[in-house]
Amino acid sequence: MTPAAPDFEARVADWLSVEEATSRVLAAVPTTPAKCERVPLSEALGRALAEDLRASATLPPWPNSAMDGYAVHGNDVTGASQERPVALRVVGLLRAGGAPAPRVEAGEAVRIMTGAPLPDGADSVVRREDTDEESEPGRVVIHTDRDAGRNVRPGGQDMRDGDLVLEAGATITPGVVAVLAALGRVEVPVRPRLSVAILTTGDELRPATRYDDVRAGAGIPDSNGPMLAAAVRAAGGRPVLLGSVPDDRYAVVGALEQAKDADVLVTVGGASMGEADLVKRALESAGFDLDFWRVRMRPGSPFSFGHLHREGRPEPVFGLPGNPASAFVTFELFVRPFLLRAGGHRRVARHAIACRAGEHLKGAEGLTLFTRVSIDASTSPPTVRTTGPQTSGLVSGLAHADGLAVIPEGHGAAQEGSMVDVILLGQSTAGPLTPRHDGVPSA
Ligand code: AMP
Ligand code: MG
Repeated sequence: MTPAAPDFEARVADWLSVEEATSRVLAAVPTTPAKCERVPLSEALGRALAEDLRASATLPPWPNSAMDGYAVHGNDVTGASQERPVALRVVGLLRAGGAPAPRVEAGEAVRIMTGAPLPDGADSVVRREDTDEESEPGRVVIHTDRDAGRNVRPGGQDMRDGDLVLEAGATITPGVVAVLAALGRVEVPVRPRLSVAILTTGDELRPATRYDDVRAGAGIPDSNGPMLAAAVRAAGGRPVLLGSVPDDRYAVVGALEQAKDADVLVTVGGASMGEADLVKRALESAGFDLDFWRVRMRPGSPFSFGHLHREGRPEPVFGLPGNPASAFVTFELFVRPFLLRAGGHRRVARHAIACRAGEHLKGAEGLTLFTRVSIDASTSPPTVRTTGPQTSGLVSGLAHADGLAVIPEGHGAAQEGSMVDVILLGQSTAGPLTPRHDGVPSA
């Protein structure tokens, strides 16, 4: 039987550069005043701080010892050597959090542990290894003067009462949690998480609960849904997985209803030019304003961005292509910065570093290539190699990607040994698997 006439996508593509697409996406970040909520410190990881925070105490509160050893007058040990050791009388013991010790007079020492307040009179701490450790009780012999005037951490070196210590927009990392704890915070003012509805589309997709179909060759696993949910969470958002719908315009429109309360909608698949690529058409029938479709990049060129108009509120919609590498890279380049900025994070861009290509990295005429690479940081500069074949339909290499090597449009390939910019993905992996005999990493 002859099939009905083809129903390919007829829209003219915009083919924006990656830079233009990025700035159009970031320009759409809502400028509504920042809201604030309070969460326990233990739940603040990954959130954006909503307020500037000042110290309400001075830390450390007093000068204290940076070493286990003996608090002394620096003058007393100046000139001490193996040949001419100096002996001092030990007049007390100080531990961090312990009882205070007497004043240290010339010719005296106080045994002191790291973090203990420096006793009055002392200005130096001689480390334990440079002494005889009181081989005669009450008397310490010091045989070098390298610590004269050293190993004292001044009071207020960390922060002073009233100092601005953290600024609104800081992303709460484990290091920021340390500072918040040092500020005595039990609760932290943070920006609300953005809710991000994720809709995967495709007749062939199967959730893990229907993996028997995959084994029987009757479907492919929905890897993008869980991947994007994880990526949303890592960007400080709250994923709402709507599951996958078949390639049917009405099914897609129905699912859009479920996304109506989300701050952002991410659709995956059905984004290109085929007959089943009906996501944009479904969106249009629900009141969609397309900003742009198609970017000069690989993977991910069928990416689209626009807004669904919902009761006066424009809901940003990111249309990601379904190939796993395309979905991964377009999330990374466009959705992640949007979520971070809209979620009040000051730092939006990843770090990029210059690395040496450990193998030939392909370029593409008129497209910027984002090659998934693993990074060997034991060389200087670091060396990058592809995570395996770069076909966008493959999922396994994503687990080993430390970075995305950027081969800008118009640059041609990067030859082995040449320098390339690499966007650091901030995910640490176990490194590449042992290659299979055919060069493809084995499972
Ligand atoms: P599409 O963008 O719908 O044309 O899909 C492109 C390719 O990606 C097809 O091979 C799909 O089977 C695959 N694909 C689409 N969505 C997903 C998904 N959620 N998880 C894994 N692969 C997908
Ligand atoms: Mg599809």
